[in-house]
Amino acid sequence: QGIYPTITSSFRTAEDQQDILESKYEHYQKIGYSDKKAKAYAEEWVAMPGTSEHELGLCVDIASGDSRVTNQEVWDWLAKNSYKYGFIERYTAEKQDITGIIPEEWHYRYVGKKAAEEMHENDLCLEEYLQKAS
Ligand SMILES: [Zn+2]
Repeated sequence: QGIYPTITSSFRTAEDQQDILESKYEHYQKIGYSDKKAKAYAEEWVAMPGTSEHELGLCVDIASGDSRVTNQEVWDWLAKNSYKYGFIERYTAEKQDITGIIPEEWHYRYVGKKAAEEMHENDLCLEEYLQKAS
């Protein structure tokens, strides 16, 4: 279909997550933010170690792996088709109030085909799906 999805990040240890958080913090300091602001922005973008879904090993970040297709084209395709393979776009803009996480079009979580299909058909995020199931 002319789409070349490539995994850019998968399983991370809590130490990996700490390194990512610190890099982001240093980035914001370097571009001139105060320590307090740099820390706040870094924590807005990067999950605290011990809370990232990447530490579960159930998530992947996906982008374009080919110059013939943009990241946005890959993400649009994934948003429409990933459920067929058991994956969900975990953090959408529409569900930000429920997930508490800023939209991440590249972040996909494996939930299995049955759950992914039900969530897709009923427009449910994982939190809503689990609430309904319990
Ligand atoms: Zn991710």
